[in-house]
Amino acid sequence: MHIWFTENQTEDVSLGLRIQSVLWKETTAFQELVVADTLAYGRMLTLDGAVQTTIGDEFVYHEMITHVPLSLHPNPKKVAVIGGGDGGAIREILKHPTVEEAHLIEIDDKVVETAKRFFPEISGSLDDDKAFVHYTDGIQWVKEATNFDVIIVDSTDPVGPAQGLFTPEFYQSIYQALGEHGIMVAQSESPFLQPHLIQRVFQGVSSAFPMTRLYLASVPTYPSGLWSFTLGAKGDVTTQIRPELFDLATRYWTPQIQHSCFALPKFVQELVR
Ligand code: SAM
Repeated sequence: MHIWFTENQTEDVSLGLRIQSVLWKETTAFQELVVADTLAYGRMLTLDGAVQTTIGDEFVYHEMITHVPLSLHPNPKKVAVIGGGDGGAIREILKHPTVEEAHLIEIDDKVVETAKRFFPEISGSLDDDKAFVHYTDGIQWVKEATNFDVIIVDSTDPVGPAQGLFTPEFYQSIYQALGEHGIMVAQSESPFLQPHLIQRVFQGVSSAFPMTRLYLASVPTYPSGLWSFTLGAKGDVTTQIRPELFDLATRYWTPQIQHSCFALPKFVQELVR
């Protein structure tokens, strides 16, 4: 029998994945959470019908949202992830030998609980001694935070509790929460399907940070498959890759990708001109 999961990504575009079974379904205080087993990409987590992560392609997103900003910082020690309850970003951050503290700020404890139960390969590092999990709203948390080296916004789409994670005020609070060479990055959706959102995030980050850059990666289960990340830096960044990073255990990120991911196709350059 063929059972299909369909994500309606816009009014005109859907993603279809054939599934073997639904493993878990729950309505949390914030969203509808589903875990299903797909034939193409293995186990998949969805929130409110939108794919968050799959075993088959999660490495691309988690490596690119973490290693790009951490490689640009001269000595990242204190890092935070806002959202990211699956734990994939924390797993990648803890691969950096300089990191002493990796904080996860997730509004919905059920996402973390489900990730630990169904996605141990992604969430395993949440139990590391250097990982600290805070169940609270990232918008409030960041107002009190200080002296972080890198802050990563690994959020759901800009609806429900994530809406405030896409505002200039939030990026300004992140700026205040960062130390001297601080860097932020936010997932900023698809240039094909959400060009206006990319422009909004880019303008918002630019209003708070002196340097803003967009970079891209291919994530097949995200809308259109071409995904953008917006990076803001407080000052000069190092483009020299530190020697220890040449041995990072990755499957997508490489020192060459670190440089090439900032090369944008012309239509994307025009979005952020
Ligand atoms: N990689 C994913 C993507 O782009 O689809 C995002 C993954 S992660 C599961 C997103 C998380 O952000 C969710 O678990 C959600 O609960 C969390 N979140 C949404 N709004 C938040 C907020 N205001 N503060 C903290 N976490 C939030």
